[in-house]
Amino acid sequence: MSHIAIVGAGPSGAFAAAAAVKNPDVSVDVFDRLPTPFGLIRYGVAPDHVKIKSVTRVLSKTFGAERVRFFGNVEYGRDIPVGALHEAYDAVLFATGSTGSRALGIAGEDLIGNYSAADIVPWYNGHPLRGSEMRISEPGEKSTVAIVGAGNVSLDIARILLKGRAGLSDTDVPESVLAALDSHASVDEVHIIVRRGAADVRFTLPELQEFDRMSEEDLDVTIYDADLRSEPTAADLADPTAQQRWDLFSRWATRKPTGADRRLIFHFGVTPSRIDGVNRVSELTLTQSGHELAPTRTIRVDAVITSIGYAGEPIPGLEFDHERSVIPNELGRAGNRTYVAGWIKRGPTGVVGANKACAGETMRVLLEDLSAADQDVDRSDARKRLLADLRTKCSPVDWEGWQRIDDAEVVLGTEFGCNRKKITDHRRLVEIATAVSA
Ligand code: NAP
Repeated sequence: MSHIAIVGAGPSGAFAAAAAVKNPDVSVDVFDRLPTPFGLIRYGVAPDHVKIKSVTRVLSKTFGAERVRFFGNVEYGRDIPVGALHEAYDAVLFATGSTGSRALGIAGEDLIGNYSAADIVPWYNGHPLRGSEMRISEPGEKSTVAIVGAGNVSLDIARILLKGRAGLSDTDVPESVLAALDSHASVDEVHIIVRRGAADVRFTLPELQEFDRMSEEDLDVTIYDADLRSEPTAADLADPTAQQRWDLFSRWATRKPTGADRRLIFHFGVTPSRIDGVNRVSELTLTQSGHELAPTRTIRVDAVITSIGYAGEPIPGLEFDHERSVIPNELGRAGNRTYVAGWIKRGPTGVVGANKACAGETMRVLLEDLSAADQDVDRSDARKRLLADLRTKCSPVDWEGWQRIDDAEVVLGTEFGCNRKKITDHRRLVEIATAVSA
């Protein structure tokens, strides 16, 4: 029997574990620093994207399967010394994702009211350790937010802020976040700042169409100055969804504001050049992309959220490519008996499903390497020592522990008339998970 350790219980770690245990001679232990599994699905996917979140049902089958063990609340490099996994397992796979932020590098980013997607997304998703609560308005006031970046995360953030408590009350968004969206984080206007032209964005069509649906209920979606910049060429619109996206933007550009309570305004072909304010953010200046010295417009804002892609974070003991924000690897091989999968392998792009193929590729290579290895080494004593050691250092949460959290969140949900409410307090999560039943 070969024993594999996986660090990271998000979709990539789960897909890698599922691929591994298809081989009956393999067992897998999955470690995660959080007491809960599912990583990005639980804390990155937008709370109103219930269908995408439901992939947890598939991942649960893997974590609950024979020859797979879950150890939550265990941090590699803190609770597990660097190198200890290699002593205890035949191979170690890191699927730690990309949770860091990227900054624009412009003046004013140190002002209060400047946030990154890596602050806001974990906050509204109830992450127990990460995220910053938005504090941008006084109770009773409405505020204006600019989001920089033309990816789907920008659209997620815009949608969540504009939906507010009323549009999210049937989701698992924690009560504390819903209360904030009603008081000091109450938003009625969002500007999305896109450095390219409208024909050349990374937004996907279904995510844009969600705003069309919202505009039937009190949301004005417009294009700043009705300006779509240069007309696209036939080649730009060769892909049918690019044509549909362009048609949607063109329709929004001709729309007259109806005086709706909430507004979403897209700006194309402009780049932020500075953020101004006395102590806190109050203005964002934009320049035409490619002509960065000539300011074109200034918008009054209460907050700026930079959503220009996540950054991977180094893993203790491994080389890190700071430029690409990944662990250098070849087909997932990242050193002796060391492998990577998911965003930390290939960078922070692609939908959840893309991680299945990515993790599958790494696991195929890993299993090939294991079967080509000269001799079996018995690491069972090191493994026993490592797991015993963990129980003295932290309170590992096993799969039954996670199921106790799951049950508690479902019960909490019934109090609020929804399927689940997330528990956000880290200590409380561990207490629930490790409670011994009477
Ligand atoms: P992303 O898709 O890589 O988009 C990042 C955006 O930031 C790009 O538009 C990029 O512009 C822009 N950008 C980068 N540097 C910039 C700068 N200095 N100034 C201005 N703009 C800058 O990243 P993401 O939105 O974080 O999404 C990550 C992945 O998750 C994507 O693959 C996304 O599709 C996926 N995702 C999917 C869903 C869904 O399916 N519902 C939801 C959320 C996320 P350029 O295009 O000009 O480089």
